[in-house]
Amino acid sequence: MEAQEIVALEQQYVVHTYNRPEFVLDRGEGVWVYDTEGKAYLDFLGGIAVNALGHCHPAIAQAIEAQACKLLHVSNLYHTAPQALLARDLVESAPGIDRIFFCNSGTEAVEACIKFARKYGKANGGKTAFVAFEHSFHGRSMGALALTAKAKYREPFEPLMPGVHFSPFNDLEAAVQLMAEVKPCAVIVEAVQGEGGIYPASPAFLQGLRQVCDEHGALLICDEVQCGVGRTGNLWAYEASGVQPDLVSVAKPLGGGLPIGVAMAAQRVASLLEPGDHGSTFAANPLICAVARAVLSTINTPDFLASIRAKGAYLGGRLEALAAKRDNITEIRGRGLMWGVETPMNTKDVLPAGYREGLLLGSSGEHVIRLLPPFIVEEGDIDEAVARLDRVLAGA
Ligand SMILES: *Cc1c(COP(=O)(O)O)cnc(C)c1O
Repeated sequence: MEAQEIVALEQQYVVHTYNRPEFVLDRGEGVWVYDTEGKAYLDFLGGIAVNALGHCHPAIAQAIEAQACKLLHVSNLYHTAPQALLARDLVESAPGIDRIFFCNSGTEAVEACIKFARKYGKANGGKTAFVAFEHSFHGRSMGALALTAKAKYREPFEPLMPGVHFSPFNDLEAAVQLMAEVKPCAVIVEAVQGEGGIYPASPAFLQGLRQVCDEHGALLICDEVQCGVGRTGNLWAYEASGVQPDLVSVAKPLGGGLPIGVAMAAQRVASLLEPGDHGSTFAANPLICAVARAVLSTINTPDFLASIRAKGAYLGGRLEALAAKRDNITEIRGRGLMWGVETPMNTKDVLPAGYREGLLLGSSGEHVIRLLPPFIVEEGDIDEAVARLDRVLAGA
């Protein structure tokens, strides 16, 4: 089938919630994807922080093959080994976390955290409000969307979950004041904000939030859907600040390309949850759990995490050098393999110029180019991507 015909089918039959470029992706290998015409693209978006091990990683392919021939799905009414083992692996990876709730996406992971925090808050003084931050993104359901800062995403669908209060990001004083006023059951924060523009939280901000949560008996929820599972060079992005959250939402990279979501909970929250409180038909089937175990065990080694920090520092250095020579870069922000390049240009023009150069880039709004390369990226790939980005910014 020709690319044009595939695009025409999509335009006729799929709800138009995405603007897609005119090519059709067909296969991938490592940091590269190829369209149906055979054109190669260096993938520096990684399926929006999902393809942490790149495309067609052997550990993932083998896990899929082995489990697909054994058992795919039986529902959560029964015990299966891959789920139990993945839960153990996750708990052991996160000090302070005692139990795992499984679901299918980042939004669902946040939604589970919302429900668990509500149950905790009601049992501890009847608290129901939430504090979230400007530039936050937590998902698209009526609860997760309520915690998402961008008015354009929220307003067409209001009324959403009530009782959400936004505070400026990285401004501890403002958060302290707001919390005294609204007495929330929980505060939700991304240690590095992703969709909102790649803004890293300062360690002092996260430490201060932990302290003020403790003072008010509120829970600290870290949304690690984008920044977690090694992206920043720590397995969990909040680790860099030394804080321990009460709830953690995880998704994007954990399934290596298959859908999985996880809400990780400390015992004092988990102990309030009973059969019937929450559930999912699809979640944590043996296939996705076998794959997630392969992903997690590949990433969660000291050497692999150190390699992410080294490559991340290299990418950051190359972007700084690019910024020094290009006046259409106004700021570079990021950590590990998560970078934002702020530009006065519109990302609506930058991304298509990237496609022409054979480079897949992301955007965070109109003026931040977002880079989320797979963790298996090599320095040579980074050089090539930065050279292509240079041509994009020169010509777009
Ligand atoms: C993408 C994202 C979500 C939503 O995840 P989905 O899998 O798209 O539902 C939630 N929180 C953060 C921080 C994200 O980046």
